[in-house]
Amino acid sequence: MKLLTRSYFEELDRTDPLSHFREKFSLPENTIYLDGNSLGARPKTALNRARELIDQEWGKGLIGSWNAAGWWDLPLTLGNKIAHLIGASPGEVVACDTTGINLYKVLAIAMRLRPDRKVIVMEGSNFPTDNYIAEGLVEQLGDGYEIRFVEEDALTRAITDDVAAVCLTHVHYRSGRALDMKKITRVTHQSGALSIWDLCHSAGALEVELNNAKVDFAVGCTYKYLNGGPGSPAFIFMAERHHGEARQPLTGWWGHADPFAFEQAYRPAENIRQMLTGTQSVLSMAVAEVGVDIMLDADMQKIRSKSKKLTSLFIDLLEQNCTDHDFVLQTPRSEVARGSHVSIGHPHGHAIMQALISRGVIGDFRAPDTLRFGFTPLYLRYTDIWDAVDKLAQIMASEQWQHRCFQKVEAVT
Ligand SMILES: *Cc1c(COP(=O)(O)O)cnc(C)c1O
Repeated sequence: MKLLTRSYFEELDRTDPLSHFREKFSLPENTIYLDGNSLGARPKTALNRARELIDQEWGKGLIGSWNAAGWWDLPLTLGNKIAHLIGASPGEVVACDTTGINLYKVLAIAMRLRPDRKVIVMEGSNFPTDNYIAEGLVEQLGDGYEIRFVEEDALTRAITDDVAAVCLTHVHYRSGRALDMKKITRVTHQSGALSIWDLCHSAGALEVELNNAKVDFAVGCTYKYLNGGPGSPAFIFMAERHHGEARQPLTGWWGHADPFAFEQAYRPAENIRQMLTGTQSVLSMAVAEVGVDIMLDADMQKIRSKSKKLTSLFIDLLEQNCTDHDFVLQTPRSEVARGSHVSIGHPHGHAIMQALISRGVIGDFRAPDTLRFGFTPLYLRYTDIWDAVDKLAQIMASEQWQHRCFQKVEAVT
């Protein structure tokens, strides 16, 4: 391999078609933010939007803003925007609640739609909340319902004719590995099961083609690659063919066919609105819309292309400048087989990440040994990758990570 130099990265920055997006984000100085896969950076205009909402819409418009400022329809308005980013049609996506709560709703729907089947197939190594949620549902259903936990290599064999739903995360939170959504969904349907995908590490990171892959249901969050802000709402996708027949279990008034009729009995809306349960955090949702709007202005192919390049160069630089330090690449080497983060294992991963953060390079750590680096094409420069690996190499060479101050483990890693 040809020796990589910083001037090559400078050249890439000069010709980067996405470079102008960086100025839309507020980033602290002397910081290389490689954690946008966990909490996206703040769009500059998020502050104006929050101020406008609090000052004008709430402060002056008061209750009238539910209509006049579009608060009531915001879950659908935002859902329709997110639909563009994940290969869905208008009317198939709604923004609301959290990923976990939304997963509960769609899993429960799937079990109701396949009443003669009692198995959910999931990946045991998935982000735990998805598995916890499924455990809670299965426990409540009782009566022989179960989760079949498998890993990727055993996945298609596990999708047998007793399976009601196959519920997978598209891009793995730890390894960054991307599953073949279209192929697995086809196998799922061949067995008569329904297909549910978690897009937390996909939405805004790579092209997602839900309808092209014929997916039944999907969920995801907006605070990672969509830059929606801490705790911003999640979303639900339900393919149009299920509208009307699906019935989600959290039957609150926002999902009623006619909420302001105040009927005594629940009557489900026949469209995506049925996925709603109750009053949403309007402030958080309005701020999330700012992040989604920026994403809609960017071309997803350009984002994906830059993301592949950033992750590949990071891996190449690690191999050029950080050998001899026991790092193990945990992310697939093939760029089509990964999302937009790279994970490397090291027995002292936590202390190394703390030392990196103290030098202004922010990634995160996932127990027991994973250092995770997220690459967000809208606000990262190629030179950031060079500088980050340069700092990592210095920390390893000087053994700075061994310092006592880097051994403390906080609640959020
Ligand atoms: C980030 C993430 C979540 C977050 O779930 P919340 O309910 O929004 O806290 C869930 N699943 C996966 C796979 C994630 O990566």
